[in-house]
Amino acid sequence: SKLKEGLSKTTQNLTGKLDDLFKGHITIDEELYEEIEEILITGDIGFETTMKIVDTLRTNVKKKSIKEIDGVREELKLIVEEILSSDDAKLKIEPSPAILVVVGVNGVGKTTSIGKIASRLNQEGKKVMLAAGDTFRAAAADQLEIWAQRAGVDIVKHGEGADPSAVIFDSIHSAKSKNIDVLICDTAGRLHNKKNLMQELSKIFRIIEREYPEATREVLLVIDATTGQNAMNQVKIFKEAAPLDGIILTKLDGTAKGGVVLAIKSELKIPIKLIGVGEKIEDLQDFDAKSFSEALFA
Ligand code: GDP
Repeated sequence: SKLKEGLSKTTQNLTGKLDDLFKGHITIDEELYEEIEEILITGDIGFETTMKIVDTLRTNVKKKSIKEIDGVREELKLIVEEILSSDDAKLKIEPSPAILVVVGVNGVGKTTSIGKIASRLNQEGKKVMLAAGDTFRAAAADQLEIWAQRAGVDIVKHGEGADPSAVIFDSIHSAKSKNIDVLICDTAGRLHNKKNLMQELSKIFRIIEREYPEATREVLLVIDATTGQNAMNQVKIFKEAAPLDGIILTKLDGTAKGGVVLAIKSELKIPIKLIGVGEKIEDLQDFDAKSFSEALFA
């Protein structure tokens, strides 16, 4: 599958090393746990989450009287699956109308992800509209327009330097008059000025609350898996600036840092809803804990 393929470097980095370790070990001893710890930490899973995983593993192996090394591997897989699973991993766009606010730093794949979501929802028969709320970068609205055309959906955009809130305001009214099911709003992603970012986002949320209270609201943060632990820091910063409902994790294809998924789920308690596994319009998948841990422990 595309997921398995995309995760192959992460799998090599994590599972490959774990398998080598398990092959070389016959006894279940403290040294085994320490080496597992090291592999997980270097696999971008993060210190805190690694400790949690290994402690649970130690406890469960004892509790379940696991004597075989294969049993330890299986138990590790179960623990990972447990960490990854959550009830609210589905994109929430019902009841209609819905508004998705997409936030994230420039370059992470925000525009691409919006285009992919738009295309998918359009194919599912939903009426979709995009709002070009990143008015700061000259090319941002143009790029988004190209994706709107590809996806076959409408777009509301103003000129460069326009007030993002005005774009959101207009798009809401346009969405209402055209009976749009899902309005997807792009936003600017300049992190160098955190105060500006917060003010801009809170202004956008105020507009939405006032003009579109009936809409199902979903706020999604886009982060880039290839940046590993750095992506974790972005989540922490945006968590303060916006009421995040979920994460879109992009560029999982070809990165060895896919282990960061575990750190996000376990430490930040924000569900990963969608994953990007390529640059094309169809390269977007729902995050599924089971298939993810299966791809990881192939
Ligand atoms: P933005 O600045 O956040 O809007 O980022 P863009 O959507 O323009 O994407 C930046 C780059 O990342 C582009 O070259 C995209 O093709 C690429 N990209 C986005 N998502 C993915 C993904 O899931 N996989 C890969 N391999 N590339 C991606």
